[in-house]
Amino acid sequence: MALCAASISHNNTSRILSSSKSNTFYQKKISASPHFSLLSLTPPLPSLSRSGFGSHWRRREPCSLHGHVSCSVKAVLLDESKEKLLLPKGDMWSVHKFGGTCVGSSERIQNVAQVIVQDSSEGKLVVVSAMSKVTDMMYDLINKAQARDDSYVSAVDAVFEKHKLTAMDLLDGDDLASFLSRLHHDINNLKAMLRAIYIAGHATESFSDFIVGHGELWSAQMLSYVVRKNGLDCEWMDTREVLIVNPSGSNQVDPDFAESEKRLEEWFSRHPSKTIVATGFIASTQQNIPTTLKRDGSDFSAAIMGSLLRARQVTIWTDVDGVYSADPRKVSEAVILRTLSYQEAWEMSYFGANVLHPRTIMPVMRYDIPIMIRNVFNLSAPGTMICRPAENEDGQKLESPVRGFATIDNVALVNVEGTGMAGVPGTASAIFGAVKDVGANVIVISQASSEHSVCFAVPEKEVAAVAEALKSRFSEALNAGRLSQVAIIPNCSILAAVGQKMASTYGVSATLFNALAKANINVRAIAQGCSEYNVTAVIKREDCIRALRAVHSRFYLSKTTIAMGIIGPGLIGATLLDQLRDQAAVLKEDCNIDLRVMGITGSRTMLLNDVGIDLSRWKELVKDKGEVADLEKFRQHVHENHFFPNTVLVDCTADSNVASCYHDWLRRGIHVITPNKKANSGPLDQYLKLRALQRQSYTHYFYEATVGAGLPIISTLRGLLETGDKIQRIEGIFSGTLSYIFNNFKGTRAFSNVVEEAKQAGYTEPDPRDDLSGTDVARKVIILARESGLKLDLSDIPVQNLVPEPLRACASAEEFMQQLPQFDNEMARARQEAEDAGDVLRYVGVVDAVSREGRVELRRYKKDHPFAQLSGSDNIIAFTTTRYKEQPLIVRGPGAGAQVTAGGIFSDILRLASYLGAPS
Ligand code: ADP
Ligand code: ASP
Ligand code: MG
Repeated sequence: MALCAASISHNNTSRILSSSKSNTFYQKKISASPHFSLLSLTPPLPSLSRSGFGSHWRRREPCSLHGHVSCSVKAVLLDESKEKLLLPKGDMWSVHKFGGTCVGSSERIQNVAQVIVQDSSEGKLVVVSAMSKVTDMMYDLINKAQARDDSYVSAVDAVFEKHKLTAMDLLDGDDLASFLSRLHHDINNLKAMLRAIYIAGHATESFSDFIVGHGELWSAQMLSYVVRKNGLDCEWMDTREVLIVNPSGSNQVDPDFAESEKRLEEWFSRHPSKTIVATGFIASTQQNIPTTLKRDGSDFSAAIMGSLLRARQVTIWTDVDGVYSADPRKVSEAVILRTLSYQEAWEMSYFGANVLHPRTIMPVMRYDIPIMIRNVFNLSAPGTMICRPAENEDGQKLESPVRGFATIDNVALVNVEGTGMAGVPGTASAIFGAVKDVGANVIVISQASSEHSVCFAVPEKEVAAVAEALKSRFSEALNAGRLSQVAIIPNCSILAAVGQKMASTYGVSATLFNALAKANINVRAIAQGCSEYNVTAVIKREDCIRALRAVHSRFYLSKTTIAMGIIGPGLIGATLLDQLRDQAAVLKEDCNIDLRVMGITGSRTMLLNDVGIDLSRWKELVKDKGEVADLEKFRQHVHENHFFPNTVLVDCTADSNVASCYHDWLRRGIHVITPNKKANSGPLDQYLKLRALQRQSYTHYFYEATVGAGLPIISTLRGLLETGDKIQRIEGIFSGTLSYIFNNFKGTRAFSNVVEEAKQAGYTEPDPRDDLSGTDVARKVIILARESGLKLDLSDIPVQNLVPEPLRACASAEEFMQQLPQFDNEMARARQEAEDAGDVLRYVGVVDAVSREGRVELRRYKKDHPFAQLSGSDNIIAFTTTRYKEQPLIVRGPGAGAQVTAGGIFSDILRLASYLGAPS
């Protein structure tokens, strides 16, 4: 420790007043001594705290070493036993803390100096972190030296260079010379220490703490010079002289407030100043051994200083506009919280919001000192105020129950399980005693009241030791079977929702877990403390960001974001993409729905994008940036993005291979939307498996456009069934093509002419036999029959095939069309017979729920029947039910075409968004 001591005494070089002008800021104890010093002429102030300042300040003259020593006054202050300047405390002080990014470069340090100068408080204590990345660099030096990696030498040089260059930018003349001389001296000491570490292959904690604290020593000195250069007199403080802490285990230290206050008063009597630039992070033990407040501890330093001074306010300056409702790097829609209670801020920081060190709260809360979080790069942002919450007249807290969300990664769950635990006093204490013995930090605990298991989370790196300790502590119980296991569940994260009173407000936890369920996130453990400030869930690490976004969007009404993959950009898929493009802005603005197409895949080429494809030029992008299509890779890309809580794959193909993937997708929590009839009309067992899986999960499968394109047919049927109506019969014209053909087959033209006309108008498939065969209608009948609860397969449906038997073998559509006129007579006869009886011919599908069968056939209807009134290619569906018995419920309208089909898919997408929590 010799080196440490030497360095500290170097810092101790007194800074002493050089002027005899009186100043009311400085209070003094008048000693009994007759030797009045210059300072004792200062009139005492009436009270120690909350008093104002005088306006005159002692001026300093440059001193030889650090610039501000006057020999004459030195003599006075050396007689300290007689004369002491009292440290004023109270509202006159404001404490500022500038984080590493705030002082990350010479320009930034200059900017910070401006902020300090512009603060009109009478007393300012400025706590400063090391320049950004420097503490990491310092830890790295130690690691390298311990590992006997010679590159530590060049790494020290890099640290030196960084500070030298920054100082050269900022300082000149004597200031620069004295800073560089100090820097040189420190670096030489560090090199010697690191050499010792290199030889020993080990660094003690105090060695390490001494080394890593240098970043703060240098940044504080540089900043103090710059503040002075900007015209504000100031002193710099090595807080190792002032902040006294006791190690408290688990890599933490506890401040000794009484001793620190005493030392601060002593320090002040030696360095009275209105502006003090103090090192963050570093402190000393009772034995004057340098230590630190541990990583990110500068916030804590500022809070301790604030409490020692009973300051008016502590401002934590950083690089964000305040405390966000969630980590802004993970949730782009996070909002700034204008106020937070102390408890909320503590919970947020404890559970991973690193904008504030969790221990910052306690010291200031004792004196009701508010903390402001401000952005040094955006002074116009008002920031977040952390204080005692305001209460309205009824004493009720005004804030909404959930304020923010935070996460901790890299934790593991430990589950101690066994029937022998119930009712045995001391089990919990034995478990946590064993955990304490290995020094592990328990982050959350959950025990079911059955007492069969105790489950808790610890940092992943500590879990092996914890498991070992538990197994050995409970070896007897494990052998005897009283404990069945000590299980470890690795790779977990903790998600905490924080808010005063949230746990006592109805429905908050339900909404939280519902949002997680809807994003298909499995919760491994839950803890809700009686403090009511947080509800905590342990989830899989890979789900963490999705979970955060899902719950955040649910509570903050930020957007319901859905990652989409479009499969099959043919006519319907392309139309859907165009509709999405045109409607995206309105959906975002008016409905808070953010639809991101993360991928488009055809059978040969796919286009993937991490944030969402620009739909105004997707065709061009597919051409330029497309890659070879791979459906599994596509699925992975769209689903495993970690950013969007919900994923939907939209299958716009008619492909049964794609349909065969739905089960796997749903199982993985991917929602599926499709106009593709293949899955729902395919083999019955597969269909039943798919529906069963979907019903068990929170995953949605929508297929409105499989029947009647955009017409509300499936949803009408579901509405009837779910409200307890009984379906008797569904009968309809489900094929737009056949609707067109029979609506126009009125006896004026031959049947084959009408088919030709329909083909020319684009109403038919390229080969009209695909329509005339009736298979497509049969698939729709199967879909509706199954939806109504009938267990039918396609082979159970008799289908009247309108393709004349001999033409079914025609090699091409052209050949078929050529030969079709030969069969016109047959069709003309059927039409004439119908007409003679006052009927028309219609090609219909029927689901007969009473006799539990379905069929597809050409039927005759009276001319006043609704089916006879159709025009164009309209579909019409009649539901006869217990409630709609006399008059069937009829849905009618265009049931084919790219626009209406894409519209049907689109409305399924919006239905999904509303199921996922988008406001309706
Ligand atoms: P400093 O160096 O100023 O102490 P930190 O990196 O320690 O800065 O803390 C600020 C960072 O905390 C922000 O840049 C932000 O990315 C992160 N952060 C995490 N959670 C939150 C939150 N809920 N609100 C604001 N910032 C957060
Ligand atoms: N410089 C220290 C660290 O990076 C302390 C701080 O910045 O708060 O951990
Ligand atoms: Mg910080």
